[in-house]
Amino acid sequence: MTDWTRRRICCLGGGILMAAAAPHIARGQSRPRVVVIGGGIGGATAARYLADLKTLDVTLIEPKPNHVTCFFSNLYLAGLRSLASLTFGFEALAERHGITVIRKAATAIDATARVVSLQGGSRLAYDRLVLAPGIAFKFGEIAGYDDAAAEVMPHAWNAGPQSDVLRRQLESMEDGGVFAIAAPQNPFRCPPAPYERASLVAYYFKQFKPKSKILILDAKDQFSGQELFEDAWSRHYPGMIEWLPAQFIGKTKGVHVATCSVITESQTFKAAVANVIPPQKAGLIAERAGLTDSTGWCPVDPVTFESTLQPAIHLVGDAIIGGDMPKSAFSANSQAKACAFAIAASLTGSPRFPPHLFNSCYTFLAPDDAFTNAITFAPEGGSIKTVKMFISKVGESAEVRRRMAHQAVGWYSAFTADVFG
Ligand SMILES: Cc1cc2nc3c(=O)[nH]c(=O)nc-3n(C[C@H](O)[C@H](O)[C@H](O)COP(=O)(O)OP(=O)(O)OC[C@H]3O[C@@H](n4cnc5c(N)ncnc54)[C@H](O)[C@@H]3O)c2cc1C
Repeated sequence: MTDWTRRRICCLGGGILMAAAAPHIARGQSRPRVVVIGGGIGGATAARYLADLKTLDVTLIEPKPNHVTCFFSNLYLAGLRSLASLTFGFEALAERHGITVIRKAATAIDATARVVSLQGGSRLAYDRLVLAPGIAFKFGEIAGYDDAAAEVMPHAWNAGPQSDVLRRQLESMEDGGVFAIAAPQNPFRCPPAPYERASLVAYYFKQFKPKSKILILDAKDQFSGQELFEDAWSRHYPGMIEWLPAQFIGKTKGVHVATCSVITESQTFKAAVANVIPPQKAGLIAERAGLTDSTGWCPVDPVTFESTLQPAIHLVGDAIIGGDMPKSAFSANSQAKACAFAIAASLTGSPRFPPHLFNSCYTFLAPDDAFTNAITFAPEGGSIKTVKMFISKVGESAEVRRRMAHQAVGWYSAFTADVFG
């Protein structure tokens, strides 16, 4: 007997009550109900792959009208892409894939009753729940930095209005100014992205504000792809980017908004434009639902992506403790597919597949110079471990790098079509 048939039999008496408590369920109750919270990369992929099985009722909960991808948002900051070209609606998921999309935030989860509460008070029953709420910021760790400060010293670590604020600041900055990037400690969303940002903003400065400087105030002593970045900075932007690791300046401990200053454990850095990327944790709904541990992230089973803290709730994407998998869109997409097949197997008895987990990233150093990595992973000993890894090397020809930059653009189109239908 599958989980679904077992549950249907044991819950027959409660069916009317659940239906009354779940006004949003548009279709009949004959199929198992999967609710997905978060319409970003992990959530949209999970909803799409669950719905395409045609055996489940799938509802996606997302308060925003559309999703702006973080990947490629550094190209927007450099004036190389429009924000519109990075924006995707949920219409195709609803119309082509039959997903019920509810434009509200989830406010609470009752894991015992298997009900999600939504903004405005409505409630939605589920047989399985998938959470992909992305990240939240640990604002308390940087004194003076909160939502209001982020309007002046943007993090731009969720793409959309924050990216727009930062782009406008860079455009109005005078030539000769200092752009400071405060990069967080691990683990955080997309480990190479602060350094890709430095590279692409340097490309913009080189053309329009060549006397300007970029300071990276890092809470770490090394970073992802360091050799490749440092090589590119000396080739493309000599003298323009300075990286200051934690061993020299300490971590960022505060900001002074009025003077646009970043305060580290040893010094204060005044900037013309400051991009403060705070330390991170799982999205708040996961924390509120008791799905995080002392690290602030969500422990999951590496095969099914079911929470190890609450049954019948699965998590994918940046919010999870993913072992060796980085917090990336590609990882979120790969985890979401494995999770969808595991849920289907459990609810409908469809075949079980061992999870195939991948990450592949393209990182821009300049518009025609990108590097790549491709990694396969497998569950091992309750975690997720690297099986095989390829990464670009320092010294590759300009032609190889140009080809990577070109492939990245193709990847973007194919990947977003896979996620948003
Ligand atoms: C500058 C930058 C560059 C990047 N470049 C790359 C790259 O080149 N390649 C790559 O693979 N990755 C890249 N990434 C990382 C990638 O964007 C993230 O890893 C990915 O978006 C994670 O997906 P997610 O589903 O976990 O979270 P998200 O995509 O952030 O989605 C979370 C969603 O949950 C919703 N949500 C939150 N709380 C609730 C709630 N209570 N109710 C309902 N909905 C809720 C949010 O509104 C949001 O839409 C980059 C990131 C940044 C910042």
